[in-house]
Amino acid sequence: MANTGKRKGRRERPDLTFGGVWDYAPAPESTDHVDVAERYGLFVGGAWARPRSGKYFATMNPANGRKLSDVAYAGGKDVDAAVAAAKKALPGWSRLSGDDRARYLYRVARVLQERAREFAVLETLDNGKPIKETRDVDVPLAAQHFFYHAGWADKLDMLFPGQDVQPVGVVGQVIPWNFPLLMAAWKIAPALAAGNTVVIKPAETSPLTALRLCEVFMQAGLPAGVVNVVTGDGKTGRSLVTHPGVDKVAFTGSTEVGKEIQRAVAGRGVDLTLELGGKAAHLVFEDAALDQAVEGVVRGIFFNQGHVCCAGSRLLVQEGVHDVFVRKLKRRMGRIRVGDPLDKNTDMGAIHSREQLQRIRELVDAGVQEGATLYQPECELPRGGYWFAPTLFTGVSQTQRIVREEIFGPVLSVSTFRTPEEAVAKANDTSYGLSAGIWTDKGARILWMAARMRAGVVWNNTFNRFDAASPFGGFQESGFGREGGRQGLRAYVRLGAGLLPG
Ligand code: NAD
Repeated sequence: MANTGKRKGRRERPDLTFGGVWDYAPAPESTDHVDVAERYGLFVGGAWARPRSGKYFATMNPANGRKLSDVAYAGGKDVDAAVAAAKKALPGWSRLSGDDRARYLYRVARVLQERAREFAVLETLDNGKPIKETRDVDVPLAAQHFFYHAGWADKLDMLFPGQDVQPVGVVGQVIPWNFPLLMAAWKIAPALAAGNTVVIKPAETSPLTALRLCEVFMQAGLPAGVVNVVTGDGKTGRSLVTHPGVDKVAFTGSTEVGKEIQRAVAGRGVDLTLELGGKAAHLVFEDAALDQAVEGVVRGIFFNQGHVCCAGSRLLVQEGVHDVFVRKLKRRMGRIRVGDPLDKNTDMGAIHSREQLQRIRELVDAGVQEGATLYQPECELPRGGYWFAPTLFTGVSQTQRIVREEIFGPVLSVSTFRTPEEAVAKANDTSYGLSAGIWTDKGARILWMAARMRAGVVWNNTFNRFDAASPFGGFQESGFGREGGRQGLRAYVRLGAGLLPG
C-alpha cells in the first residue's frame, strides 16, 4: 500500500472477492490520510473482479510522476460482463419505487460527505489539482449531485406531467480526467434516479476516485450490478459505447472522440448525449468592477490549471480599459501560487499528464510563432512531475491557433472590442459553444448579450460556478444534451403516451 500521510486508524474489512486487491478501508474518522491500494480490480455485479484481459495499467501522480497504483484493464469480455451485470440488475432497480431509489441516492450522498476529506486527497493525488479545489468544489459538488437527483427520483411524474416515464435501460458512460469524481457523479446520479443501470468508464489517467466511489455504493447498500465500473483506455470506451447491450451512451470528453462516438452509434437506435470541448469568450466592459473582473478572469482560466471544458480562455476587453485591465491582470497573475497540490495554499497544481503538457507547449509555441506577445510571471516551478506557469498572450488575432483551438491548460489570450455588437460577433466566432462570461454593471446589457451569445451557459459577473440544479451543455462542436437540472434528467427517461384522460 502506498501511504500518503499520517495514519490514525485502520479498520479491517472482509476481503470482498479476492485477496490483495482491496482488503481494507480507512476508518471514517481517519480524515487526514488516504491509502491507495497497490492494485485495483474492476467493479462488476457489486464485487471486485480480476480483469479477464489479465492486464493492468499504472495510474500516476502528476505532481511527481510516480506511480500510485496498478488498475485493471477492461478488455471486450470484461465490458461484456459489466453490461450483462447492468442488464441483470435493471428489472429490479427500475421497478423499485422512486422513493426507494431516492433513499439509496441520499445514502450515497451522505457517505460521500462523511468521506469527503479522503476523496479530496485521493483526487488531488491522482489528478494533480489543488486540494483547495477538490475540498471546496469537486467533492461537495459530487455529493450535491446525488442529493439533488435523489430529490427527483420520486417526482419524475411531476417533472414530465401526464406522461408515462420509463428508464432508458442500460447506460454506457465515458468520462474524462479533468473532474474525475464530479463527472462520475454528474453521470451516475441522474441515470440512477430515473431507474437506469450503469456501466461507466473513467479516464485511464485518473480512475481512482471512481473506483473508490464503488466503496461508497457498497456502504450505501446499492444493489449489485446497478453501477459497474470498467477501467481502461479508449479501446475499452469504444467497446462500451458500441456494445449491443447498451441502450444509451453518455460521453464527456474531446470533440474529436465525441464525433467518433456519434459515427459509431449512428443508425443503431441508441440514445446519445455528448459533452465536448470549449473555447469560451470572457467579456469585460468598461463599466465593469475591474478588480472583481480580474478575480473572475483568473478563476475563469487558471482554476484546475485551465483543464476545464468551459474555461474562459478567450478574454475580450473593451478597448478603453484594455491597458489598465491587462496591467491589473499581470499583477494578479504574479500572486498565483503554483506548487504542491496537497498544500492548502496552492492555487495552481500540476498539469495532468505528460501528453497534456506537450499539447500546451505546442500551442504556446504556435502562439509565439504566429506573433502574439507572451507573458508569464516569475514563478519557480517544482521539479519532477508536469508543470506550466500561468500564461497570458496579448496582441492576438482571431485567426491564431491559440484563439481557435482548445488548449485545456493555463493559457489566456486577450483581444479587444469596441461595441457590444462587435463583442458578440467575436465571442461567437468559434466552432464551440459551451460557455461565456460577461462583466458589466448594466443588467439590460447582460440580457441583451446573453440572448445573442451561442453558449450553453452564460455567467454574469462571475465565472466557473456550478450547481446541480443548473443545466450544463453545449452548442455546435461542444456537443448536445444537458447535464444537471431538470433538463439533465430528460436524457435518462423514455416518455410514453400521455396518461391524462383526453
Ligand atoms: P478524450 O476524449 O481523449 O477522452 C475522454 C474519455 O473517452 C476517456 O475516458 C477516454 O479513455 C475515452 N475514449 C477515448 N477514445 C474513445 C473512443 N474511441 N470511444 C469511447 N471512448 C473513448 O478527452 P480527455 O482528454 O480525457 O478530456 C478532455 C476533453 O474533455 C476536453 O476536450 C474537454 O473540453 C472535454 N470535457 C468536456 C466537458 C463538458 O461537460 N462539455 C467536461 C469535461 C471535459
